[in-house]
Amino acid sequence: MRLLFELLLLASDLSGIPLPEVVPQVQIVTAAQMPCECMAAYEAGVVSVRDDVDLDRPFGRSVLLHELVHHLQVHHHGGPNTPQARFARERDAIDVQNRFLALQGSARRAGFTHRTD
Ligand SMILES: [Zn+2]
Repeated sequence: MRLLFELLLLASDLSGIPLPEVVPQVQIVTAAQMPCECMAAYEAGVVSVRDDVDLDRPFGRSVLLHELVHHLQVHHHGGPNTPQARFARERDAIDVQNRFLALQGSARRAGFTHRTD
């Protein structure tokens, strides 16, 4: 829970999007329970993170941070209602994720690999 608040604050700082009043729910699920072939997903206030994502490591944390950026986006701007908006949201979340990885001293970077709808 402490990690969630820390990452939510960082997501807000790095994205420039104000903190929402609502804290998302985070659930750890198996690959079979994921809504997509991805490491994590955000939908309607719930972040799903696959159980093999290591939240003790910078990259795993960056995966959760990425989904928290989507939470901030939805609460501040509303849901993305065009493919262009969805693409822009994804690009912004990846940008925040990669800046976080750089701050953590990690050489890994995220790219456009996961579904956003
Ligand atoms: Zn995303």
